[in-house]
Amino acid sequence: MKILVINSGSSSLKYQLIDMETENVLAKGLCERIGIENSNFIYKANGVTIEKQIDMPSHKVAVKLVLDQLTDPQVGVISSMSEIDGVGHRVVASGEAFKKPTLVTKQAMQLMEEIKDLAPLHNPAAIVGVNACLAQMPDTPMVLVFDTGFHFTMPDYAYMYAVDYKHYEKYKIRRYGAHGTSHKFVAEEAAKYLGKDISQLKIITCHLGNGSSISAVKGGKCIDTSMGFTPLAGVPMGTRSGDIDYAAAEYIARKEGMNVSQMLTYLNKQCGMLGVSGVSSDFRDLTAAAEQGNYRAQLALNMFAYATKKYIGAYAAALNGVDVIVFTAGIGENDNNIRAAALKDMEYLGVKLDPKANNNCPRGTIAEIQAADSAVKVLVIPTNEELVIARETMREANLA
Ligand code: ADP
Repeated sequence: MKILVINSGSSSLKYQLIDMETENVLAKGLCERIGIENSNFIYKANGVTIEKQIDMPSHKVAVKLVLDQLTDPQVGVISSMSEIDGVGHRVVASGEAFKKPTLVTKQAMQLMEEIKDLAPLHNPAAIVGVNACLAQMPDTPMVLVFDTGFHFTMPDYAYMYAVDYKHYEKYKIRRYGAHGTSHKFVAEEAAKYLGKDISQLKIITCHLGNGSSISAVKGGKCIDTSMGFTPLAGVPMGTRSGDIDYAAAEYIARKEGMNVSQMLTYLNKQCGMLGVSGVSSDFRDLTAAAEQGNYRAQLALNMFAYATKKYIGAYAAALNGVDVIVFTAGIGENDNNIRAAALKDMEYLGVKLDPKANNNCPRGTIAEIQAADSAVKVLVIPTNEELVIARETMREANLA
């Protein structure tokens, strides 16, 4: 049983072919600059990396190249396309139209068209990606897996915004969250690793990457999450502001002569760590600059750690306690300073880190970093969103 996982961006397409018997990645890669000059194709399998500059005017061409490479007699990992049993497509936004992974049908794609403007940069790309795959593999079952899916168990009082109710009814304005596949994966991995039944656990999952979100998971179900109607909400991120008083945004817009769409671009692309530090959105650069005495780089790091801490505190309250805190994604898995700063002075909550374990955390594997006398387990867990998409694809397409 082999599942192809596709993550389409507006000018990119990431792919992984996963053997579901072993859950091993057989091949993976990336098509970059689709529809732009100097397109770049990357393929990795069996320890070999192939990179070539090759014209990719459309996603359809990119998918064809991926399939040709996967079935290539020399470097391929399958002998024919028919070995691909299903295709899972990552989709960023679902609105309330899709509350779970959904088989690709004409009707589903019609609904996808209707919710396109919920994520104008990402959802249209997913539609293009699905159509590109359908053109090559019309008889292979395909499943849409939504970043928002895991969060649909939130209670109404957690997902509602305090706006005029008619705007919820009319436009479905509410919290949807994001990174759902990652939060689900690491919460389930945490329970498995600890040998506990997830239905008995209160877990706070911190997906800290270029985009960051934090979720409260009770009995395996999400009850709250920090991102909102879009990924702009929550903790400050690489280039996103995170939570902000909208009157402050309006004030900047007025003073700087920005319209609403320019303001949103500013809040998504020029704020966060990049905006505060003036150095970079990358935590490695920020740490290096802070070590050289750069005040604004240190300030940005402090703000990020503090915002993370506040969400952890809030979610411990929402969960009525916490058994496990999980860190994942680029920053969560690699940045020991942020983990330590976010969990500093939380002994009252039963959270105590082991500095040695935190500082020497091995990469690419699950690690426990709490002190021996910490009531709360603190785990670092590598995320694997593609595997969740592949598993959901198998389930939804009845391939299991
Ligand atoms: P994305 O949201 O793009 O999937 P990732 O989860 O890959 O992001 O996280 C990328 C971010 O992780 C980088 O921008 C960087 O800030 C951070 N990061 C990656 N490696 C390290 C590291 N060794 N130390 C600190 N931060 C890191």
